Amino acid sequence: SAIQNKIAAGEVVERPSSVVKELVENSIDANASQVEVFIEESGMKQIRIVDNGDGIHHTDGPLLFQRHATSKIGTDYDLFQIRSLGFRGEALASIGAVAKVTVETNHMEGNPVFIRFEGGKLMEQTPGKERKGTDITITELFYNTPARLKYMRSMRTESGKIIDVIQRMALAYPNISFRLILDHSEKVMTKGNGNLKEVISDIYGLNIARHAVAFEAEDADFRIQGFLIRPEINRSNRNYLNISINRRFIRSFKLSQSIINGYHTLLPKDKYPIAVIDITMDPKLVDVNVHPAKTEVRFSKERELNQLLEKTVRSHMKGEML
Ligand code: ADP
Ligand code: MG
Repeated sequence: SAIQNKIAAGEVVERPSSVVKELVENSIDANASQVEVFIEESGMKQIRIVDNGDGIHHTDGPLLFQRHATSKIGTDYDLFQIRSLGFRGEALASIGAVAKVTVETNHMEGNPVFIRFEGGKLMEQTPGKERKGTDITITELFYNTPARLKYMRSMRTESGKIIDVIQRMALAYPNISFRLILDHSEKVMTKGNGNLKEVISDIYGLNIARHAVAFEAEDADFRIQGFLIRPEINRSNRNYLNISINRRFIRSFKLSQSIINGYHTLLPKDKYPIAVIDITMDPKLVDVNVHPAKTEVRFSKERELNQLLEKTVRSHMKGEML
């Protein structure tokens, strides 16, 4: 029902930055090599994502904003085999329930279509322009949830959170070109040529990228790879620890702490490194289903992973000091 949708929406789309994250994940899942994000007034006025991905079949269009209508999950077993970023089929339903949305999309096997929704209801469907990919625009976010709207209007930090989301996505997907424009000013621009060091340069600047050192480690269960930048190069906070699991960026206090511990035997305590790390593992070892936003995860072999990460950072660090 409409009320259920509004309640569930609160879990998935707490704020504009979570809307941006869900939409960009959909573009990545659709094999886009280029994702452009246009934000106005911290996303409260407009969030627009343009991708060159596979597009949405015109017959799926009207279903997009129905809860679970498109879920990819067939059985419980599938939950542990997740390879795409989305899987609950509830992001668009949640967003659609609390905003006005237009989608223009073109699928290889379909006709281009333009669709307009309001509060989850289909308002308009007409033939769309010939194009490759999907162009989705969210306006008047939270227009029908006054408490949330009021709360968001009082926030000052949302632009920073949106930049953070796109930066983390760009660092996890060096082969996708990302562009973020906030109120007509370009905040993120990556080329998508697969060169992670260039992405680090695009995001943190040339000086930091010059100090980025590649590292890699592997055991029976995990493969860790990425770049580390020595703490003395960094501004001193933890926010520059970018960790992704199978290219899904996550927040993990313990994994962050393992990186810091790897350094702290050798360096002063108030300095933090920059890290861009992807950990590859069997999807069965990670449960991303803890929270709808999917940034919190649980591991089956958490202690082993933390130990491997700390050990890897420590020996990398020692190698660099020689
Ligand atoms: P999920 O990602 O969990 O499947 P969503 O609600 O985020 O659920 O999206 C629903 C479906 O809409 C996706 O599974 C996908 O088929 C389609 N979709 C959404 N955005 C795009 C896009 N940018 N390009 C192609 N398909 C899309
Ligand atoms: Mg999704």
